[in-house]
Amino acid sequence: MLANKNDSRTSLSEMGEFKLIEHLTKDVVLHHDDTVKGVGDDCAVLGKGKELTVITTDLLIEGVHFDLGYMPLKHLGYKAVMVNLSDVYAMNAKAKQITVSIAVSNRFSLEALEELYAGIQLACNTYQVDLIGGDTTSSNKGLLLSITAIGEVSKDEVVYRNGSKPNDLLVVTGDLGAAYLGLQVLEREKQVFEVNPNAKHELDDYTYLIERQLKPEARKDIIRLFRDLDLKPTAMIDISDGLSSEVLHLCNQSKVGAKVFENKIPLDQQVISTCEEFNLDSSTIALSGGEDYELLFTVDQKDYDKIKGNPNFTVIGHMTDENQGINLVTRAGQEIEMKAQGWNAMKG
Ligand code: ADP
Ligand code: MG
Repeated sequence: MLANKNDSRTSLSEMGEFKLIEHLTKDVVLHHDDTVKGVGDDCAVLGKGKELTVITTDLLIEGVHFDLGYMPLKHLGYKAVMVNLSDVYAMNAKAKQITVSIAVSNRFSLEALEELYAGIQLACNTYQVDLIGGDTTSSNKGLLLSITAIGEVSKDEVVYRNGSKPNDLLVVTGDLGAAYLGLQVLEREKQVFEVNPNAKHELDDYTYLIERQLKPEARKDIIRLFRDLDLKPTAMIDISDGLSSEVLHLCNQSKVGAKVFENKIPLDQQVISTCEEFNLDSSTIALSGGEDYELLFTVDQKDYDKIKGNPNFTVIGHMTDENQGINLVTRAGQEIEMKAQGWNAMKG
């Protein structure tokens, strides 16, 4: 019998997603020596020889991760693939296959699911990934979508979250905060629409933000660029939960501290202007917004010349000794401790 150990009850919202995963997996024992990396990175890493396999999975739930009120099904399919490929690229790996599992209620028509698959297939064709299987079942209510992605990387090129050293440069690709703001814009539009379905939609000022929310692109190009530049990051993670949460993961796993400079965080002009309009602090949005699907990585200082001047990269700080903590240097020059305020599924 698998009896419960005790009757006490701990609320999940007190714990948060990361503590929960840590708690549930703390007694996991690995039985195979070809399980190179288990829980704790963007992907698990498997293999014995020179070529390794990476694998990652994500589950998206209607009403929690997406709202079909403003997320067209084709975009949802595309984005669901991107979310997974982003984790593959975060290992410096090449994405090769995906499986797709869906649970649907009879609220959905065949045509609706064709739309979903059109998005999935567009992503597969664009990113040269093979759809190789999955599972289909019914749900009582709503749509659930789970994708698993498989990739390949050589033993010499795989990059984990735990390789950062003090004085390594902390670098981010692209710009941050736009996807979160895109969501705010879409939420606002939905409310306006609910009050007045004939309201005119003025979204021209937010095109980049909406695109970043509805059609994110995983940074396959950056993995290729690393090869071209002959650059191997010391550690890497993708930005799915917001910059501060990911900096904390890199630091905790690498056992280092960090100094992040607020004035270096890359922001698009639409992020700046929309933050002013919505009365939001743009740095807070970049630090905590999430869904950017950019890459955050560290490089040895000796590799600075390889990234210098490249418009894909912004150096936002550097790593420090662990005992110096993880700090944000504000525009005013004040140092404050960085805390993850990223999106927390358990509080949703
Ligand atoms: P990411 O944001 O990169 O997708 P997550 O925060 O979802 O990563 O997960 C962090 C790590 O914890 C990953 O290695 C993931 O495989 C693992 N993980 C997440 N949920 C579970 C679970 N329920 N059981 C075991 N491992 C999990
Ligand atoms: Mg990740």
